[in-house]
Parts: sequence; C-alpha cells; structure tokens
Amino acid sequence: MTTSVIVADGEKARVFILYTGGTIGMAPEDLENPDSPLVAKPLDELLQYVPGLANEGITLGFASFDEPLDSTEVMADHWLKMAAEIEQVYEEYDGFVILHGTDTMAYTTSGLSFIMENLAKPVVVTGSQLPISSARTDAVQNFVASVFLAGYKATNLPLIPEVMLCFADRVLRGNRARKISTASWVGFDSPNFPLLATIGEHIVVNRDLIRAPADNTRSKFFVHRQLVTDALAIDIFPGLRPSHLAALLDQEDIRAVVLKTFGVGNCPAALWPTLSAAIEGKGGRTPKVVVNVTQCLQGSVEMGLYAASSGLLEGGVLSGLDMTPEAALVKLFWALGTIRDPQERNVQLQIDQRGEQSENLFDLRFIPAGQTVEPKEVHDFTQSVDGRFLVERLTKAVIRLSGVACPEAEPGQMVTIKAYLNLPPVVAPDSPEAQRYLAVELSDTYDPDAGLFFIQDISPIVEEVVRPGPPITISLVASTPIQPRGVFLALFARV
Ligand code: ASP
Repeated sequence: MTTSVIVADGEKARVFILYTGGTIGMAPEDLENPDSPLVAKPLDELLQYVPGLANEGITLGFASFDEPLDSTEVMADHWLKMAAEIEQVYEEYDGFVILHGTDTMAYTTSGLSFIMENLAKPVVVTGSQLPISSARTDAVQNFVASVFLAGYKATNLPLIPEVMLCFADRVLRGNRARKISTASWVGFDSPNFPLLATIGEHIVVNRDLIRAPADNTRSKFFVHRQLVTDALAIDIFPGLRPSHLAALLDQEDIRAVVLKTFGVGNCPAALWPTLSAAIEGKGGRTPKVVVNVTQCLQGSVEMGLYAASSGLLEGGVLSGLDMTPEAALVKLFWALGTIRDPQERNVQLQIDQRGEQSENLFDLRFIPAGQTVEPKEVHDFTQSVDGRFLVERLTKAVIRLSGVACPEAEPGQMVTIKAYLNLPPVVAPDSPEAQRYLAVELSDTYDPDAGLFFIQDISPIVEEVVRPGPPITISLVASTPIQPRGVFLALFARV
C-alpha cells in the first residue's frame, strides 16, 4: 500500500482516497504517448486530470492497492482490506472515496455497508466507463462529485454518513445499487430505492432518506472481519430440475443460499422438497439458510401471497423482502460470520441492518417445520415475537393457514374457522366478549386433496391486542376438527 497526502491551502475538509483498480484510474503508461498501454496511476498524476479540485480547500490523502485490480477479481477479502484502510485513518479524515472498477462495485458497496459498524462519515465508491485519461471520459465528473460528497465540510453539502455509490448523475445507497449498463454513462441505478442525491448543475441531496450518523463518541467505528462466504446465489428458471438444485445444495461447505425467484417470491412446487430438506439438514447434512429475493428489479418478496410460494414459507425459507441479490448475499456472509445462534441469525436476516431493505419482517411460525398437530376443533398456538417489534411501527399483519386438513369433513362441505388473537383464557370463544379478539372468520368448501388455505390481513386486530412483551397466541375455533400444516403470522414494520 502506498500513501501520500496533498495538503490544501486554507483546508476546510480532509478526504481520503483509496484506489483499488478499475478503469477510472488508468492512464497511458507514457503520458506523452496516448497509445502506450493503460496502467494504474498514482494520485498526483491522476490529479492533473482534475485541476479544479485544488481550489476547493480539500486536503487529499491517497493510498492505492499495491496491485490495482480489475474489480472482477475483487472479493470479500478485498472489502475487508478497503475497510481496514479506512479504519486506520478514520479519525483523521472527514470522508472517504474509493476508486473501483464498475463490474463488482455493487457487491463492494453492499459488502462495505455491512462490515462497517457505527459509520458516521461518508464513504463514496466510484468508477467510470472510460479511463480518466481518455478525452471523452466520465471519470472526471464521477471522481470530482465523489470528492465533493466526501468533503462535504468544504462544499456545503449535507453529511451523508453511508456507503454510497456515485456514478454519472446519481448517488445511490451502496447496498441498493445495481450495475445496469456496461456502456452507458448511467452505469448504475437503485431500481428499488430512490436516489440519495442527483448530480446536475447542483448536487441535490434527498435529505429525508439519509440515515442518522452513529455517535462515535459513544460507539466507535469498527470493521467486522469475520465474513463467512460459504454461500451461493441460485437463479431458479422454468424447468430447473430438483436433482440439479439438490446437487448444489448437497455440498457440505455451503451454508446459505440466496434464491432468486419469480415475482413476489414464487418457486415451482417441484423444488420445494429439495429446499426444505436442505433447510432442515435432512440426512445429517449441515442445515442451510435460504433467503428468497425476487428476480424482478422492483418490488418485494411476499411469500404466502400465492400458493406458488407457500411451500417455501412452510419449509423455512426466509424473506429477503426488497433486497438486491448483491445485498442479500453479503448480508448472509455477514450474518454467518457474526451471529452464532441460528434462530437469532434468522431474525436478524429479516430485519433491516444498513438500509438494505424497506421493512422489517417479524415472522412467527406457530407450527415448527416438520411437526404435525392432532386434528381438533380448538387449537391454541403461542409464539414469542422479537423484542424489536414495535406495534406502533406495524405496516401490515398477515395471518396464513396452509394445508388445513379436515378429517371428518365431506368433500365440498362448508368449513368455518375463527381465528382469535390473544384471547384471554377466561373468555369463552362463543361469548360476546370474544368478539374483541376475533381476528378473522374464514369459510370455504372443503377439498380433501388440497386442504384449506387462508391468507388474510389482520392489521387492525394486531394493533388492538398485541402489546410489547407477552407472546402472541392464536386460537383457532373450527366447525369441524382441523389439522393445519402451517399457521403463520407475518408482522411487517417500518424500519
Ligand atoms: N472490468 C473493469 C472493472 O470492473 C470495468 C470497469 O472498471 O469499468 O474493473
């Protein structure tokens, strides 16, 4: 690692620049000969392409990877190296710029966002489509705008204490970014999250979106160094064979999978048993964590909304909500490396950590996977909800019963099921008092092959009867003995 500092006259801000490789910092080996091969250049040579920066009152510190990398070769260890460089000089600078190749930039910005804890300063990652030395380059604009964002104290911009990706006319939250073009100036976007800022004649920051800085006087900035990368990202596609999926999931050293599914999280039923077996750790294998994200560029996973994802929910697949596949993968690396208890890890994986998802999901599964209940007319199921669930932040509560068998019902018979929430033991289900606790009354004709399947929004009753602390009880009272395979309550809450 080589380092140098260029001190500004009348210093107003200090920005540290780390060059890791990529097209942006390239210039002809022989500056006199534009046709000589492109090589990575030291900062003082790069700065000649951005002469205006010298007048901004920003002192620039500079370090470079000894061997600048095409970002194709950048991996989790390199994210740690970048973060460690920043950690070393964190106190001395107001902001940080990382010059990086574009190909895996969105993985790096996601990775940095998870491994950096208690961030209170801007970390801006940028690159370019053409080398800084090229006459038509986009590097100057990207580089200068990034230094402006990081050197906010000198440029009168607001502090954005996040890992962000600055490219062309936009500033994106790092863990929401995606590379969208190999050639256009607008190489990146965050299709599932608004822009943090737009860059035109002015840099206009969307202040409402900016995350609060950590208070570094109380909680010091540090870097999580234990990433576990034993994970896969798997795209499902029409006709993906269970045996092929199983061959991947049977690998003992795979501990987690990002499953990229159709639409709101749908996956062909033929693949469900393979996935649930992997999650359960059937046959003495290491149980896998599976996180479901959508292949769509926009929107969120909503498992259980269609029958086409109900098997995933029952098998223990976690929802990646509206995370990008890049962020979901890195979140798994981080969670596997930092959270030992599998249950707590699953809770954390569905909670927003760094602005990577728009909602928290507290997912209550009242019948553990693989367990069966006896057929009865009245069932009581109880589950604790994580202490971080705040009912005042609830956006939606969805109850879901799946595979409800009715062994004494005739095909076509009308079956009614009432679901009560936190019904006190002293209140009889048929009494008028019980009405207050009635979440939903469901009726359907019985089909023995499919069983009954219900999904219903019960937000009002959750707001009414759920309080912090005590566990949640769902009481099912049916017109005939019922044997549900799955009883779920999904609590979505603002972050
Ligand atoms: N392959 C290069 C890289 O990602 C492309 C670029 O920088 O734009 O390092």
